[in-house]
Amino acid sequence: MSALLGAIEAGGTKFVCAVGTGPDDVRAIRRIRTTTPQETLKAAVDFFLERPRLPEAVGIGSFGPVDLHLDSHHYGHITTTPKAGWAYTDFVRYIEQAIDRPVRFDTDVNVAALGEYAWGAGRDCSVLLYLSVGTGIGGGVIVNGTPVHGQTHPEMGHLSLPRAAEDDFAGCCPYHGDCLEGLAAGPAIAKRWGRAPESLPEDHPAWALEAHYLGLTITNLILAFSPERVILGGGIMDQQHLFGRIRAEVHNRLNGYVSPLTDRNVLNGYIVPSALGTRVGVLGAMRLAQSAL
Ligand code: ZN
Repeated sequence: MSALLGAIEAGGTKFVCAVGTGPDDVRAIRRIRTTTPQETLKAAVDFFLERPRLPEAVGIGSFGPVDLHLDSHHYGHITTTPKAGWAYTDFVRYIEQAIDRPVRFDTDVNVAALGEYAWGAGRDCSVLLYLSVGTGIGGGVIVNGTPVHGQTHPEMGHLSLPRAAEDDFAGCCPYHGDCLEGLAAGPAIAKRWGRAPESLPEDHPAWALEAHYLGLTITNLILAFSPERVILGGGIMDQQHLFGRIRAEVHNRLNGYVSPLTDRNVLNGYIVPSALGTRVGVLGAMRLAQSAL
């Protein structure tokens, strides 16, 4: 029998907790509004304690920045987040002590990448890139089944890009102004055009500009990591029409340089939507839990 796994997708506005053995066997799932750490973490623990059986391990995919160094004093903490009350929250120890099971911890996007690698659109890849474009932008890279950590963890949302000639929007990242997230995340689109992104029609110039910035970003990431697939998720990527435009931007920008991406048909199967969709975070966390066993 497969091990019962616990999962926490920890986001800035909501937590999603689940238990199950995999994508076809999610036995319970609960959404919890993110308030204070005390309230939110207790609600997450209560979810597991209320189940008929405790999971054998728990995986957490968290908003960040987070400390992933096992030998660090702050391992398992959310660190310097600007989110009120959450800076230096000892996430892992709280969950471990409350339910007495092994806990594994990673960034929300690394965990999403892991979910796609194990059960989604990256199953046949040894190197894959997952990029989430929503209220923030973040990316995770998997190499041979393992998310890349390093110094801290990748922060692809804050890459610097050349500005589009017609774009005079100042950007809205509190740290960098016009980094990728400051130019192209949901709040940036809303602020630049004065409308919620989901209310903008497909032919609105917002989307051509969005595809331009995401296409540049993905081109840079292809050149940096040589992924075998690029998987795009997050609320902004619900705009299905962006995929074709992003592929066209990447094709133009690479300009015949990286084979076999010179072939437009190859790009159709190379830059793809998340196969796990809205469940990618929580399923990725479940897969991360499995690595503890
Ligand atoms: Zn930034």
